[in-house]
Amino acid sequence: MRGVLVEKVGGPEVLEFKTDLPVPKPGAGEVLVKNELAGLNYIDTYFRTGLYPSKKPEILGKEGYGTIVSLGSDEKPLQGLSVGDKVVWMGGSGYAEYTAAPALHTYKIPDGLDGKLALASFLQGLTALSLIREAHPVKAGEYVLVHAAAGGVGLLLCQMLKATGAHVIATASSREKLDLAKKNGAEFLINYSEEKDLVAKVLEITPGGQGVDVVFDGVGKSTFEDDLLMVKRKGSLVSFGNASGAVPPFAISRLTAKNLRLLRPTLFNYITTREEFTTYTKELFQFILDGKLDIKIHDTYPLEDIRRVHEDLEARKTTGKVLIKI
Ligand code: NDP
Repeated sequence: MRGVLVEKVGGPEVLEFKTDLPVPKPGAGEVLVKNELAGLNYIDTYFRTGLYPSKKPEILGKEGYGTIVSLGSDEKPLQGLSVGDKVVWMGGSGYAEYTAAPALHTYKIPDGLDGKLALASFLQGLTALSLIREAHPVKAGEYVLVHAAAGGVGLLLCQMLKATGAHVIATASSREKLDLAKKNGAEFLINYSEEKDLVAKVLEITPGGQGVDVVFDGVGKSTFEDDLLMVKRKGSLVSFGNASGAVPPFAISRLTAKNLRLLRPTLFNYITTREEFTTYTKELFQFILDGKLDIKIHDTYPLEDIRRVHEDLEARKTTGKVLIKI
C-alpha cells in the first residue's frame, strides 16, 4: 500500500513516501480502515523528531477518515461497528492507505455530517472540549488566555470558550492569525512575537490587574514562565503541548506564590473508556450538525507532499486544521 515511513528520527527529510508497504492485519479489538484522509497534528512532529520516543520504523499519524473494510481477528461486530461503515478513528499509523484502528476509538460518522469535516474537528476538537470541561472547567465570565489561538486546537478553543461565555485573550504571531482568532470568538488580541511586555498587557486586560483564571498553553517552552505570572491567585495553568519545545523541569514549590493549579493533560487520558470517548465525540459532532462550530480547514495536501506538510506546520504557516489526502 501507499504510505509514509519514518525509519529514524530527524527533520521532515526522514518522512519517506512508499508505495510497497504491507497492508496491516487488524488484531483483536481492531478494525481495518481504508483511509481517504488523515489528520495532521503537531504531535506528529514530536514522534518524528524523537521529542516523544517511539519505536521505529513507524508510520506516523494519529487520526483518519475512511471506510471499514474488515474486522479484527474476533470477526464479530466491534463496538457496534460493521464493514462498510464510514468512520473517523484515533490511534496510530494514519499516513497510509490502510490502518488497523482501535475499535474503541473509532466512531461511525452520523447521518448528515461530512466525513472531511468530522475528521477536521476530531482530535483537536476533543482536545479543546476535554480541556475546558475537565482540565479547568471554564465558567461564564472567566478570563481565559489561549496561546497559538489561530492553530488547530486554538481556533476551536476560542469558539467553545466564547460559547461558554468566557472572555478570550488570544495570542498569535501575526495580524492575520489574530484576525482569524477574533472571527472565532477571541475578544482581546495580542501578537506575542511583537509585544514587548506580554505579562503587563495581559494583566492590564483582566479585572483589577489580577491575571487570568486559566491559561491554555500548547506552545510550551517559550511561554511557560510568563504564564506563571499571568495566572491569577488560585487560577489554573494548563500546559498541553510543546510547539516551541518542552517545558524544562520545574520546582513545584513555585506554585505556592499564588496557590496555582498546574496541569499537564493529554487527550487520550480523558477518553480512555468507550463511554468517555463516545460522549465527547457525540457532543462535538452535534455542535457541527447544529451549526454551532465552524471548522476551518487550512489545506488538504496530497500524501506524497508529506515533507512539505510538516515543514509548513513547523514554520507556523498554517491556521486551523491541516488534512492529508491519501
Ligand atoms: P497548531 O495548529 O496550533 O500549530 C502550532 C502553533 O504553535 C503554530 O501555528 C504557532 O502559532 C505556535 N507556535 C508557537 N511557537 C512555535 C514554534 N517555536 N514553532 C512552531 N510553532 C509555534 O497545532 P495543533 O493544533 O496540532 O496543536 C497545538 C498544540 O496542542 C501543540 O503543542 C500540540 O502538541 C498540543 N496538543 C496536545 C494535545 C494533548 O492531548 N495534550 C492534543 C492535541 C494537541 P503562532 O505562529 O501563532 O505562534
